[in-house]
Amino acid sequence: MPRFSNKVAIITGSSNGIGRATAIILAKDGAKVTITGRNAERLEETKQQIIEAGIDSKNINSIVGDLTSIEIQDKLINTTIQKFGQIDILINNAGAAIIDPTGSTGIDQNVSIYDKTFELNVRSIIELTQKAKAHLIASKGEIISVSSIASGPEAHSQFPYYSMSKAALDQFTRNIAIELVKSGVRVNCVNPGLVKTGIIQATGAPTEVSDKLYEFLGSNPDCVPIGRVGQPEDIANLIAFLADRSASFYIIGQTIKADGGSSLMLAMNTHNLTDFLK
Ligand code: NDP
Repeated sequence: MPRFSNKVAIITGSSNGIGRATAIILAKDGAKVTITGRNAERLEETKQQIIEAGIDSKNINSIVGDLTSIEIQDKLINTTIQKFGQIDILINNAGAAIIDPTGSTGIDQNVSIYDKTFELNVRSIIELTQKAKAHLIASKGEIISVSSIASGPEAHSQFPYYSMSKAALDQFTRNIAIELVKSGVRVNCVNPGLVKTGIIQATGAPTEVSDKLYEFLGSNPDCVPIGRVGQPEDIANLIAFLADRSASFYIIGQTIKADGGSSLMLAMNTHNLTDFLK
């Protein structure tokens, strides 16, 4: 029997990248899925890819909208319950690195960028989790959030608010994991490194710039030791593992990195220090 038979999953940010790959894997493995994002065309592409994988369209609930809107959050929960009757898995994946349109970086970024970043990457996750909580307790379900290796402890001074939002998400994961496990709900988090998705274009950068960045970092073993950038499926498979109670039952409140080794690299060790000792 497929591992997500009789399960219902909401996957935010499933109109692109990691969320789309996750929705496809979960649906292929038997889950009924609610997919969502602001871009109707890209969300339809996700739906079509799921259908092309052999899944009946009646197992897909597709909701277009901005996740920071209370109405859309309510619609995600309510339509999932109306259509499928339960919620077993909540994947808090939608997120973005929001850029200051003035071009300011670091501490000079306008504080409104901090507000927007936290509204999407933290506040909307808290709100949706609150709204899904009773349903997840009823089903003894799973929550998996998508953080980042940018959450620290290393500094990320070029994207301070983004990395701070992911650090907050890691701590949110630990806090609610220990609270909700008492009610039978498991909560975990994945922390990707560099993954080839729409995240760079979402900042307004052209595709060529995004491709160049992935090529530069992915082919530099000092940045990505495994030798290539991640693909959305590399992260989606980890999310699916954490959503599969029979495979990952004993993992609670963890922040699990999948980054091809990037976070193990210490800049000073990228130089041949033994040369100095000769
Ligand atoms: P993508 O840009 O490819 O996907 C982001 C998804 O989030 C899209 O479906 C987008 O949909 C959705 N989204 C963004 N803003 C909103 C909003 N306001 N309301 C509703 N949906 C929204 O990026 P990724 O797949 O890479 O990002 C997924 C997660 O992975 C994010 O949380 C990101 O921080 C994290 N991550 C990504 C890394 C990477 O290198 N790619 C590294 C570490 C973490 P739409 O545009 O249709 O609204």
